[in-house]
Amino acid sequence: MTDPRTAVAAVVDPEIRVLTIDELGILRAVDEDPASGRVVVTITPTYTGCPAMDVIRADIRRALAAAGHPEAEIRTVHHPAWSTDWISESGRAKLAAAGIAPPSPVGAPGVVALTLAVRCPRCGSPETEQLSRFGSTACKALWRCRSCSEPFDHLKAL
Ligand SMILES: [Zn+2]
Repeated sequence: MTDPRTAVAAVVDPEIRVLTIDELGILRAVDEDPASGRVVVTITPTYTGCPAMDVIRADIRRALAAAGHPEAEIRTVHHPAWSTDWISESGRAKLAAAGIAPPSPVGAPGVVALTLAVRCPRCGSPETEQLSRFGSTACKALWRCRSCSEPFDHLKAL
């Protein structure tokens, strides 16, 4: 049997296929109920507009069944709310490599809020403009780089 935490952490986000749900910060906990022996997975949904959570739940069930834990329970927790700050360092690096601009950290305590330039993931230029509030999915906005003229997806910061 595969460790349930390892099995669940490898599930890929259906919206942002380069990231696992662990790197995206959706996966909160994988525990084992000591009484029943059942695996209990706790997840926090990302954007409310994303229809991906049903897909993620089904993928978690499939991964756990394949790992020898078919009786898993999946709990959804809404507080604290997910934010793009929960994306891991490796997740941010993968987003950049995939041409998706990683969101700037939001709400850092003691830091004056600044509107930071969205940098082009291809050439790194801060000379960018938003083309559309909605990119390839509801979670992403479509931006264009004025230096290399390439359009790119920017993950909306929450
Ligand atoms: Zn560029």
